[in-house]
Formats: sequence, structure tokens, C-alpha cells
Amino acid sequence: DESKPNVIWTVHVEVRLSTKSRRRVDVIQGLVRDYITTNYDPITLPSVLGGWEADPTLASSVDRIAISESACPSMTLRLKDVLLEIHAYQLHETDAVEEYANGTPGRDGEENVLAASVCELPCKAWEGLWDGLIYSDNIKLKLLDYIHATFVLSDADVDFNLVTWNRVVLLHGPPGTGKTSLCRALAQKLSIRLSHRYSQSRLLEINSHSLFSRWFSESGKLVQRLFSNIMEMVEDEDCFVVVLIDEVESLTAARAGAMAGTEPSDGLRVVNALLTQLDKLRYQKNVLVMSTSNLAKAIDSAFVDRADIIQYVDLPPREAIYEILRSSLCEFIKKGILRGTTVLALDLALYLERNNSNRSRESETMLPYSPEDLAASKLLALADKCRAQQLSGRALRRLPVLALARYIGTGVSTSSTISNLNNSRFQTDIHLW
Ligand code: ADP
Repeated sequence: DESKPNVIWTVHVEVRLSTKSRRRVDVIQGLVRDYITTNYDPITLPSVLGGWEADPTLASSVDRIAISESACPSMTLRLKDVLLEIHAYQLHETDAVEEYANGTPGRDGEENVLAASVCELPCKAWEGLWDGLIYSDNIKLKLLDYIHATFVLSDADVDFNLVTWNRVVLLHGPPGTGKTSLCRALAQKLSIRLSHRYSQSRLLEINSHSLFSRWFSESGKLVQRLFSNIMEMVEDEDCFVVVLIDEVESLTAARAGAMAGTEPSDGLRVVNALLTQLDKLRYQKNVLVMSTSNLAKAIDSAFVDRADIIQYVDLPPREAIYEILRSSLCEFIKKGILRGTTVLALDLALYLERNNSNRSRESETMLPYSPEDLAASKLLALADKCRAQQLSGRALRRLPVLALARYIGTGVSTSSTISNLNNSRFQTDIHLW
């Protein structure tokens, strides 16, 4: 339709280079762009591309090419409506590179407490985490858009006196809903998306429990020492730093201690130290503070006040539960633990469900189901059950292990038959759940 304004969507392509690759990144980016423009019109979002192995340069340098999800309502886009942004990245092998201990032995001769750990991003450990986190209300894209907005503002040199932001995000909600994982996954994502701006990225995880709630008299000093390390890190303008403060409500314990009159000045000192340091950080372009809490009500109001985004992360709804369980089962299938079965994608499962309920209303006699239909409808029913029981994402990720354990425990399988679980046994498993 010629009269419609042409909307151009930015589509992010993430190219994971093999650890051995020494090719120039711009050469690879050019090859990937050519490959997509000649082979993928329209493109599907999200998707993992194949076939590029036929190009010897790509084959020797690239591990994986993935098109990211986007806010675009359509799952396919014509290339003429697309601006391709190609990000090439290489994973760091090691996890934690540095750890900060508090340097003071505990009162009762306890070991030094680890106050924080740092890892170089993107790292192996968090690869795939982003895709494995499933939410129903686009939380992930919302967070990415927020970061993008802060970059636009910083780039435009917007006056801080007129528009203020703190680069602080707070995720809160019941335990096990993926808040900490989401922070890590977001940090990893940013390190990939921002690789053209920052040659290095780091994730610094603060261990709130040891920092805030143990020895108040030491905590104030420790916070200062830690943040002076962070300041040093962010002074390097080529380095993007994500600071993760997990379970930030333990900060309140420090203030509560102050209120209760036990160690008033120490408790307040640590809270104030943290807030002052956070205020200093907000002038740095290359830092983002992410925090999580299981008890939003218990968080220090002065901290909450500093958060630009206060995002509630709920227990997964039925659709997300289905997808979480499906992704676990697909991993079982991929690794040969389950065989001869397909678990339908959510939209197909829901489509079948609607059809089947119409069918059963219209006629008494039911047509036979295919094994895929049956598996999908059982998995949907299971999702309902899990929802009713208010299972967290963490509990759901455990469920397939328990189901398999139960199955192995029935004595049907021997060591070699784990890889021979067939379709009907798989369904027994779902039934067992
Ligand atoms: P929290 O910080 O909210 O307590 P975690 O980030 O520690 O939760 O999550 C624990 C585990 O539960 C993660 O490893 C993740 O695999 C799983 N999980 C939780 N929520 C989800 C979700 N919405 N989608 C997929 N996996 C989830």
C-alpha cells in the first residue's frame, strides 16, 4: 500500500565469533550483511540462521548467527523495511576474573567475606541466558529500550538539570522469577550490543548480604572502597560497567539497625555511603546499576527513589510456563534424552486448544489426536496446574529433572535406554508430572 508511511525497523543481528577467530570484525560484518541480503528476504524474528557455513571465511570464524527479537508486531519483515545492525562478539572463557574481599576478619574469626566479584563480558557462562528467560509482558525489550533511551539522551548532551536519570534499575517480585538472571543476561546483551562503543564490558556483582548486613562498623568503609574501585573502572571510557546489587533490601537492614538503636551511626553511615556513591556514578555514561529485591516494601525509600525503572517481575503465567517447560524438553530432545517427539510451539498449541474445544462442542465423537497434539495439550494442562500452584521459574526449571528421576526410578530404563525414551514413554512422563 503506497499511501502508508514506510516504517523502518532496526533489526539486531548477533554474530558469535569462534574463540580462535582473528579475522577483522568489519570484514565478518560485511560478509554477514551480504549473506543475509542475498539469502533472507523476508527475515524472521527471532531466528538462528544457517547455511552460512558454505562461505569458507564465515565457516572458519563464526559459531552462530542469530536475528534478535524485536518490538515489531510482525514476525517477518521485508529487507526494504529493515535497518540491519550487525554485532560481532567473542566470548571470554573465564568467569570471575577478580574478587573483592572485605579484608577484615570477622569478629568470631570467620573467613573474609566476599564483597563483590567481577567478570569480563560477554562471557561463556551467561551465553543463552537471555533467550531462556521467558516473560509475557515484554520486560526484556522494555529494559533494552530504556538503556537505548539513556544513550540517546547522553549522546545529545541533554542538560541534567532539566531531564534527570540515574541509570539505576530495580527489579522486584517473588523469589525465583529470574530477576538476578535477567540482570546478568541484560549485562551480557549490552556488552554485545554496545561493542561498537566500548571495547570492554564488565559485570560487577555486589554481594549485598556481606556488604550491608554483617559488620556495620566495617560496611561504610567497605562500600567506599568498593565504589572507589568501580570509579576507577568507569574512568576508562572504553569500558562499559554493569553493577549488580542483588537483594538490595538487605540495605534496609542496615538502616533498620540504625532505627532500632543498636548501631545507629554505623547503619546510617553505610546507607548514606551507598547513596552518595550512586549519585556520583550517575554522571558516568558508561555505567548501569541493576538491583533486585524479593521484598519491594522493605527497600529503603531513598534507594527506590533513585531507580529510573521499578519493574515488578511476577510468577510466570500459563503461557510462559508452557514455554519454559517446552524449552527444557527441547533441550532433552536435543541432547538425546528424549526421542521421537516434537513439542509444539506455544502459538500452535493454543491454536489446537481452541480448535479442539470447538470440535468437542460441535460433536460427541472426537477425532483421534496426533502424538504432537496430545503432548501439547498435556503440557498446557500441566502449565495450568503449575500456575495454580504458583510455581516460580526456578521450580519449573527443576521439574523436568524430577520427572526424569521419577521415570528412571520406575525401573523401566537401564543406562543405555535413557537415550531411547520413546514417544509413549515421554507422554508417561508428562502424565507423571
Ligand atoms: P530470582 O533472582 O528472581 O530469585 P533467579 O534469577 O535466581 O531468580 O532465577 C533462578 C532460575 O529460575 C534461573 O536459573 C532461571 O533459569 C529460572 N527462571 C526463573 N524465572 C524464569 C523465567 N521467567 N523464564 C525462564 N526461566 C526462569
